[in-house]
Amino acid sequence: MQGRLPHALLISGQDGVGKRVLAEQLAYSLLCEQPAADGQPCGQCAACGWLQAGTHPDLLWLLPEEAGKAIKVDQVRALTGELCMTSHAGRYKMVIIQPADAMNKNAANSLLKTLEEPTDNTLLVLLTALPGRLPATIRSRCQQLQIAVPDALLTQQWLQDTGMGTGQAMGYLKLAKGAPLKAQQLAATDSAGIRDQRLQQLVAVFQGNLDPVDIARQWMGESERQYLEWWRAWLEDLIRWKQGGAPPLESEVAQKLHQIVETVDCRQLFDLTDKVANALNSLSSGLNRQLILEDLLIFWAKLADLTSYPTRVGSR
Ligand SMILES: [Zn+2]
Repeated sequence: MQGRLPHALLISGQDGVGKRVLAEQLAYSLLCEQPAADGQPCGQCAACGWLQAGTHPDLLWLLPEEAGKAIKVDQVRALTGELCMTSHAGRYKMVIIQPADAMNKNAANSLLKTLEEPTDNTLLVLLTALPGRLPATIRSRCQQLQIAVPDALLTQQWLQDTGMGTGQAMGYLKLAKGAPLKAQQLAATDSAGIRDQRLQQLVAVFQGNLDPVDIARQWMGESERQYLEWWRAWLEDLIRWKQGGAPPLESEVAQKLHQIVETVDCRQLFDLTDKVANALNSLSSGLNRQLILEDLLIFWAKLADLTSYPTRVGSR
């Protein structure tokens, strides 16, 4: 396999189509000490371990020092210097340049010299969504590989297999212009935002600043099961924390919830966790789902009355 490798590979394709994943796969195949006959990495050797930990000394990354900034000539020179040294494992050295179009003019010129006089056993992989921004001199010295957007139905099925609803999968795919990893990333970002919002609402209900019945109504829809799963996970975190475990590292909102729950005792937390678990079971039982949510949120709001939580605002 190594005999057929070019010195430089230019992988292009729109954001989220899997360019980086492909480059990383290539790194595994190239640097693994005992790859299978078809080039698959063994996943067991020291090299595979270093790659998984992101510490393999023969895989070098050339990235902007800050996201959105240019890759500078000094960075390319430092890289060229490293390439002149023999590989640590006595095998290949691989460089991933991402995004290659971030190289400014001087950096690109400097890289061109490396491309014109390649060192042995070295593979440079340039990743870009905008190959047209690279100088033609660089493009012509690379073997080019363009990754197309995969079949829409396949991608949709893949997203659904990760637990997304059909409508959601179609929506995110459209936003991501068909790129699967981009769609997944958009969904994860949105989901983090909603998670934060749900937690803030729980805090506000506890503080008496939001009406539990209103919130129950808002939570109704496609995702109430998800919200209850989050709530249960938060409660389990809090119980562990109260029992001497490490505090869960989450957003500022989570910290706020912890402050509140410091005033609630463990027994009450266990009760509530049981109730959330029961509610999760009841959701699919045909009972009125909004009533189930209301019961739970009202119980949560009343819990505040039983505690010494100091900063309650308003009254119920
Ligand atoms: Zn291996």
